[in-house]
Amino acid sequence: MNLEFSAEDIAFRDMVHQFIAAQYPLSLRTKAASDEEATKEDFLAWHRIVAKQGWIAPAWPKEYGGPGWTPVQRYIWSEACAAADTIPILPFGINMLAPVVYTFGTPEQKQKFLPPTLSGDIWWCQGYSEPGSGSDLASLKTKALRGTDAEGDHYIVNGQKTWTTLAQYADWGFFLVCTGDASMKAQQSISFLLIDMKSPGVTVRPIITLGGEHEVNEVWLENVRVPVSNRIHDENKGWDCAKFLLAHERSGIAAVARSKRGIDKIKGIARSERRCGQPLLNDPFFKRKLSELEIDLTALEYTELRTLAGENAGKGPGPESSLLKIKGTEIQQRVTELALEAVGHYGAPYFRGFPDDGDNMHPIGPDYAHRAAPTYFNGRKTSIYGGSNEIQRNIIAKMVLGL
Ligand SMILES: Cc1cc2nc3c(=O)[nH]c(=O)nc-3n(C[C@H](O)[C@H](O)[C@H](O)COP(=O)(O)OP(=O)(O)OC[C@H]3O[C@@H](n4cnc5c(N)ncnc54)[C@H](O)[C@@H]3O)c2cc1C
Repeated sequence: MNLEFSAEDIAFRDMVHQFIAAQYPLSLRTKAASDEEATKEDFLAWHRIVAKQGWIAPAWPKEYGGPGWTPVQRYIWSEACAAADTIPILPFGINMLAPVVYTFGTPEQKQKFLPPTLSGDIWWCQGYSEPGSGSDLASLKTKALRGTDAEGDHYIVNGQKTWTTLAQYADWGFFLVCTGDASMKAQQSISFLLIDMKSPGVTVRPIITLGGEHEVNEVWLENVRVPVSNRIHDENKGWDCAKFLLAHERSGIAAVARSKRGIDKIKGIARSERRCGQPLLNDPFFKRKLSELEIDLTALEYTELRTLAGENAGKGPGPESSLLKIKGTEIQQRVTELALEAVGHYGAPYFRGFPDDGDNMHPIGPDYAHRAAPTYFNGRKTSIYGGSNEIQRNIIAKMVLGL
């Protein structure tokens, strides 16, 4: 197995680095470097620049607008983006929904939904989880009853979704709903519906997270009318779409390149921060934690490269995607823990600084400290979403260890 990049891959790497250096707006660069919360406009600005270049959907087949990259080129692109601290391209439309649409959708659905997803004109949210139905997703309760009236075949949808990321900005959502009856097996009574978030009866309510951010929501569906033509795949076959989509959700979740960038940032902080008159980076206990983190990340990177080499040779990602998810997210959390430790008391989470005569707050301490606590809190999510790490361990136990 060859883990070295080829000459073409190195030329490709130079090209994408040049593109990012020339095209990534300075305003976004400054924001992302200080871990500031991105706005809807920030996400869309970078999305549109990359879409114009034809690179927004690295994994899509060429016929639908993908660039035709190999898995290694996709990896190089994600690495280049992380090294430049670019705002992430949101996965909900590009990585999660679109593969379901081009795999299971009708020609009309592909025509209607793929181009605006590519261009950023549709912002998607994912309506899977419900209170009481997260890991045990098939137990979901949101009900869709079929009917016909003068305007055609439709479903009337009632239920509640939760943890719906960035639904406050979403134009459309993809939802799992129950279309079967009590006599049917849960997995065989689920359908996959696309719902216009402006439909009467859709209400989005914020959930504010520990870091003070509005990233997730509750979504209430009360007598929402959804045309049957918005169902992807057959009625009661939504579980096939759901599983297919979750496999795509986990790809890239290891975020090796982003963690590398995080470690670089910690080194920068530890050079500036002083403890007992010495730069923190000279502290043997701190240095040891940093080294352990770097070693684990290097091991993860090689595991990811091995998976990529396998994909390049035509082997699909198997249970190793669960392994990458567990190790990747644990490392992401350790990066935020060490960053918080490095900034010391300046990271105190709820102390934003002193007010001046007006309404402005003057934060205390260096700029790099201000987002350390919210970023630490935000990072707790990574071991939960995309299928919790405990569930990934169950998968490894079953698929790898045969237990
Ligand atoms: C920040 C964030 C964003 C999210 N965004 C979205 C989104 O956009 N759309 C969406 O649909 N969902 C989203 N989710 C929901 C996410 O998918 C669920 O939180 C996740 O599937 C876990 O479900 P749960 O929260 O109901 O926990 P539960 O399933 O109730 O699990 C609770 C605990 O028990 C453990 N557990 C459960 N079952 C087992 C088992 N069989 N064996 C061992 N341990 C087990 C879990 O690992 C966990 O530690 C998001 C979650 C978070 C935190």
